[in-house]
Amino acid sequence: MGEIADDLLAANAVVERLRAVHSEIAALQAEEVALMTQLYRIRRAEQLELGVGQLYAGEDAATEIGMALKVSQRSADELIGIGLGLEHRYPATREAFAAGRIDLSRVRAISQTLTNVPEELLEQLEPKVAAYGEKADPARLRRTARRWLLEADPEGQALRRKAAEADRYVDVRAADNGTAVVDAVLPAAGGQTLYERLREMASGQVCGKDPRTTAQRRADALVALADGTGRLTCQCGRADCPRAAIDAATPPARKALVQVGVSAETLAGLRDNPALLAGLGAIDADLARQVARYARFQLIGDTTEAGSTASTTEIETDCAAKELQYRPSARVAARARALDGICRAPGCQVPAAATDLDHQDRFDHKDPEDGGRTTESNLGARCRRHHRLKTLADNRRNGWQVFHHSDRRVEWRSPSGDSVITGPEGVKYLFPREWVPPVTAGGVPDAEPHGSVWDPGNAVNAMTEILHVYATPAQRREQWARMRARHNM
Ligand SMILES: [Zn+2]
Ligand SMILES: [Zn+2]
Repeated sequence: MGEIADDLLAANAVVERLRAVHSEIAALQAEEVALMTQLYRIRRAEQLELGVGQLYAGEDAATEIGMALKVSQRSADELIGIGLGLEHRYPATREAFAAGRIDLSRVRAISQTLTNVPEELLEQLEPKVAAYGEKADPARLRRTARRWLLEADPEGQALRRKAAEADRYVDVRAADNGTAVVDAVLPAAGGQTLYERLREMASGQVCGKDPRTTAQRRADALVALADGTGRLTCQCGRADCPRAAIDAATPPARKALVQVGVSAETLAGLRDNPALLAGLGAIDADLARQVARYARFQLIGDTTEAGSTASTTEIETDCAAKELQYRPSARVAARARALDGICRAPGCQVPAAATDLDHQDRFDHKDPEDGGRTTESNLGARCRRHHRLKTLADNRRNGWQVFHHSDRRVEWRSPSGDSVITGPEGVKYLFPREWVPPVTAGGVPDAEPHGSVWDPGNAVNAMTEILHVYATPAQRREQWARMRARHNM
């Protein structure tokens, strides 16, 4: 009996300690956010001084933080955004956060709910929301804050809804084991429409013997809405499936516009080396072959082994002239992007197809003979944001240093002295050093190489720029409109 009482005491002590630890972590998180924001301010001030524009000054702080802490640039960006909000708009929240009375997820809930709320209303509402945040979980906090907002300013709600709807987006990003996470903000009615439709398709378009779970069918239904078939086909595999006639009349699924870097041996089924799916990372050989079944191909020869491709010698004659032009030929561009695979900045995952090709050794427009050549080895994949970082570094306007070593290795040295060397990601997949023998034989598609799928075009470049610009949603919208006008999109 004594033991039970002791256990009870021990459990109470554990919860008490847990509360204390959680609070200490929150206070430290507050300090971390404040420090990140401070670094952003320092870098921004330096860069404004050096003549960098308002829109971009300071954005490299997130890359610097990512490198120093081994966190993603995306999360550094988010925390800096929260930190700026705390400084300017949410003083009570900032105070409670610093004292460890609310943690980061509640701070996030408050800043997201109170975005777009006008100053006057904020003054009256924010202290109340912060106080409530000390005793509610994030979901309840959001709900209650939204209700207060509605009560305090019913007319303003329509405007805020419009503003929030203007921030709608869909994002697809890599997850583990060859899957992707689809993340979206839609107007409430649109979201409901989508969900209803998926539910109907999942329950009404297959027979009772379909082996998939409801959740799996809903996920497949979302893809079916996009691939042109518009409907699920039953996977029961029975010849007498009552859905068979309808399934037979379903139009063929449209080919996915994805880029996969895969070695020819893997593609032919001779090996099972992993492949690189642009923007999503490594995928297994079997999935790569499935994707390739519907693909167009571009051959990327391996120049590290003499005589491995026939095509490299044919065009050598006009290469010398092309090296002195600023724009690379389609072939050189495709090779440089394929070898790099992704943006070469540390921690950046932007697929090479959506990157700029940067002259690592600078091209001299006045005297091309004098500057870096437009060759595969002198071109590197950089997303817009990191291209800007590198260009500013070359012009001594951000404190970064970027060095190029042999074998396409690039060294990034941050203003605070951290240094990271990145290697070409695509090479590992296209020309793997270690061969993985095939696990299974058969089911190999016949590849018909033709055409190029590598040119991202203006739209993607502009989009990449938008995604990587450190700006408020309003600034981003304005920028987006300008960009569209410029590119006639
Ligand atoms: Zn069936
Ligand atoms: Zn990048």
